[in-house]
Amino acid sequence: LGAKICTMQRLALMRTSLLSLTRKLDAANQELIRISSSDSLTGIANRRCFDQRLEETWQAHATSGKSLALLFVDVDCFKLLNDACGHLQGDEYLREIARVCATFVSREAALVARCGGEEFAVLLPATPVRHVQLVAERIRLALAGEPVPVSPDCVLQVSVSLGAAMLAPGAADISPERLMARADAALYQAKRNGRNRTMLAAAGVPA
Ligand code: GH3
Ligand code: MG
Ligand code: MG
Repeated sequence: LGAKICTMQRLALMRTSLLSLTRKLDAANQELIRISSSDSLTGIANRRCFDQRLEETWQAHATSGKSLALLFVDVDCFKLLNDACGHLQGDEYLREIARVCATFVSREAALVARCGGEEFAVLLPATPVRHVQLVAERIRLALAGEPVPVSPDCVLQVSVSLGAAMLAPGAADISPERLMARADAALYQAKRNGRNRTMLAAAGVPA
């Protein structure tokens, strides 16, 4: 009987430590998921997370027929800011962009991501075109207002350009890549037209 009780006690101890290990493993897995899907500088979603969400949302919308809007946000002449103020100030500005985008994109279904160095993307599922333009302009205006003093006799006016595109998944000849190409073309157009503006992909914008 004594031996049996000892064994039971050992088993109970092993079960407790196994439960504790499982909890630690779950927490570590959650942390891994968070790290692999977020951008370490700004804390928002990274490119990997954006690609995954775009694909998932595209599939979901292919059956529902709802449209999907994409905004590309690119800092204007960011190299100048880095050169004039240093990389640390540049990094601070990137954090500010992430914060501003997140402020104006509060819907749970939407996603703000940092896709590359000074490039951000906003995914807006089932959003009317007027609202897409409104979000884009709010982001642009919020970021265009702040002059950055570089030296006593030099102030940089930092701004962003935005390219927006919308597609309704379902048709055979369109894809998430096509949506990205259209938003990219609109962004390129915004740069060519003088920067600090939003362009919407339309018939005139090559996709
Ligand atoms: P444009 O208006 O045409 O977009 O000009 P730009 O200078 O913004 O574009 P360009 O592609 O010439 O330069 C992008 C710069 O972004 C260069 C690079 O040093 C900077 N950059 C990329 N990633 C980071 C980062 O994580 N932190 C900082 N501080 N700078 C970065
Ligand atoms: Mg760029
Ligand atoms: Mg740029």
